[in-house]
Amino acid sequence: MISEEEARSRILEKIGPLDERAVPLASAIDCFAARDYFARLPLPAFDNSAMDGYAVIASSCKKGERLRVIGDQPAGPDRKLRLGDGEAVRIFTGAPLPQGTDAIVMQEDVTRDGSDITVNVDVEAGEFVRRRGCDLAKGQMTLARGEQIRAATIALLASQGFADVIVGGKATAAVISTGDELVTPGEELKPGQIYDSNSVLLNALLKRCGVGATAVEHCSDDRKSLDDAIKRGIKNHVLIISGGVSVGEHDLVKEALRELGAKIEIWRVAVKPGKPFLFGNIGECFVFGLPGNPVSAFVTFLHFVRPAILRMMGATNLDLPRVPAKLAIGLTNDGDRPHYFRGRLEQGKFTPVGRQESHALFGLSQANALLRVAVDQSLKADEIVHVQIWD
Ligand code: AMP
Ligand code: MG
Repeated sequence: MISEEEARSRILEKIGPLDERAVPLASAIDCFAARDYFARLPLPAFDNSAMDGYAVIASSCKKGERLRVIGDQPAGPDRKLRLGDGEAVRIFTGAPLPQGTDAIVMQEDVTRDGSDITVNVDVEAGEFVRRRGCDLAKGQMTLARGEQIRAATIALLASQGFADVIVGGKATAAVISTGDELVTPGEELKPGQIYDSNSVLLNALLKRCGVGATAVEHCSDDRKSLDDAIKRGIKNHVLIISGGVSVGEHDLVKEALRELGAKIEIWRVAVKPGKPFLFGNIGECFVFGLPGNPVSAFVTFLHFVRPAILRMMGATNLDLPRVPAKLAIGLTNDGDRPHYFRGRLEQGKFTPVGRQESHALFGLSQANALLRVAVDQSLKADEIVHVQIWD
């Protein structure tokens, strides 16, 4: 049995980024940039007005001054107006500053009288003027390779005139849930049967990584249906098999994979929950065998499958976000594997929830954070710890 760290690094050693592609900005949300992007325009691109009001020359515009309005400058093409002493230009938010102007007076602060205004406030140079490049300088880095593209990133790229963006490849994945006891939700449940919850769990977790499963299928614990499902599944970059990877007579996954030509790199990892985890490949397809217990499937997905998929898609940060929290109660791990406790993080406090057992799905459903407690580690109530979050 290998350590969690070793398992993770062995997986990541095997996996590289997929080929990059150009996508229209509208489809780039949650993708990972495949190159560094630098500003090709400063922001703002030209000096402009921050308000609807009047463009003036501050030095010739004292409180009580009467100015003649020589024209209008709306947002849009620069009308190339030029201002002299005693003059103002009617201006609107985002409009280019007329030449000679160095301040804007808000329209609320003037009294308009025909083609004249009276300024009712003191005016200082620079007031309500947005200077070229004050937000972003030309050449400044806007997006780093491997960074995830968010709504505001897309907006920034659009403001730079990019119609599309080069991002990492799109991974495809298939899910197979194994087990004679499993019934699809919505169907009738007979004694001894349970509903298949891992299929939907894994598909949902894949979606969170920006990958929808191309196929989610259930197969019973027999070699023929398992072999057929695996043969279909390996047409994807990633195949996730839930259940059947442990040591019982009905755990057929490892043997089936081997006979179909898999190279099995990892089987069994020192982590709780999640010990019977398997990783290997058949040709180009990376295969992850996750334990059937739902909490084990969840934890191993987040720690082993998620980083692998993110790397394929070109991400550089593969870790779950970690946040500090005050521990509500003391916790000890006297087992022989690091233990991920499921808990609720609320207002900076982490409280374990539900039964800390690998089948206990209700507790998992109430949890929003994981706390890793190392072997022989004892944590006291009120101690500051770092928990991992995923949503
Ligand atoms: P296995 O890893 O196949 O030995 O399964 C371990 C435990 O997880 C058993 O109690 C199974 O009934 C349960 N289990 C396996 N697959 C699923 C699934 N898809 N949904 C819910 N529970 C499952
Ligand atoms: Mg099973």
